[in-house]
Amino acid sequence: MTQEHKFGMVALLGPPNAGKSTLMNAYLGQKLAIVTPKPQTTRNRISGILTRDDAQVVFLDTPGVHRLRGRMNRFLLDSAWNALASCDAVVLLFDAALYASKPQMFDKEAEPLIEPVRGCRRPVIVALNKVDKVKDKAQLLPFMQRIAEQFPGCEVMPLSALRSQGLDELLDRVLEHLPDGPPMFPEDQISTVPMRFLASEIIREKLFMSLRQELPYSTAVEIELFDESGPSVRIAAAIYASRKNHKGMIIGRGGQNLKLIGQQAREELEELLERKVMLELWVKVKEDWTEHPGFLRSLGLGE
Ligand code: GDP
Ligand code: MG
Repeated sequence: MTQEHKFGMVALLGPPNAGKSTLMNAYLGQKLAIVTPKPQTTRNRISGILTRDDAQVVFLDTPGVHRLRGRMNRFLLDSAWNALASCDAVVLLFDAALYASKPQMFDKEAEPLIEPVRGCRRPVIVALNKVDKVKDKAQLLPFMQRIAEQFPGCEVMPLSALRSQGLDELLDRVLEHLPDGPPMFPEDQISTVPMRFLASEIIREKLFMSLRQELPYSTAVEIELFDESGPSVRIAAAIYASRKNHKGMIIGRGGQNLKLIGQQAREELEELLERKVMLELWVKVKEDWTEHPGFLRSLGLGE
């Protein structure tokens, strides 16, 4: 008798900052999606492949769902809705610690998710993340009630993606909803997204972390060269700023900031690629790129 094997796609959906990327990275035991304390870090749909003896699960990490205008934000939302359309099950993640202290935030953050999730006709599990920060679990009760009203019939599970608590329990429930099927990817493949793209994400994370609050959203990274043919991997990347004065801030006094970004990104790229990396970074100005459809497409934002 052959052992039962499951294969399926699981969309990780939720408001910005709920911990979606942290959860996916925790399942993979490897950092694939970038995580920062700044909302709107995840721009594209990043996938991560978890391979076990009895199952292969493709997690689709998505940008947070929120109400924001502008062309780029529309692309971000489209990518979340595409994941919803192509998955077998949905994990809807919320920041339980936030609602424990500010219960009114739940309605605000859940509102843009209600209709699409109700209409998706897929199994949905609601995960209450960051319970490590909630001392008094009774604080969770008011919005658990709201969850039951807004997402009727969904299972609700507490977890801490950061502390890896409740992860096995959540995965067991998810697996129950996935169809039987053979693995679709080789066991050593960690993502369906090309390395080249993962590289640009790593650089973007270091860039984000180095900048002041308002700047990250108007910057982008494009890989211009990704050459694995030599003994080390050669990568050249352009960082796009939407204003001339931003370029100076990214480079920093005496080039210090850019140097630090390059150093941190190179170290992490070497870990991911398991090879020596030579990294070159350029800063270019492209005004108002967040509203330019062709340029957004060239960055893989939007279809
Ligand atoms: P995303 O926008 O939903 O992808 O959220 P991220 O995964 O980028 O996480 C946002 C922030 O929440 C980061 O600073 C994480 O370290 C933090 N975070 C994520 N999960 C947990 C958790 O279980 N507990 C705590 N205390 N913090 C978490
Ligand atoms: Mg994210």
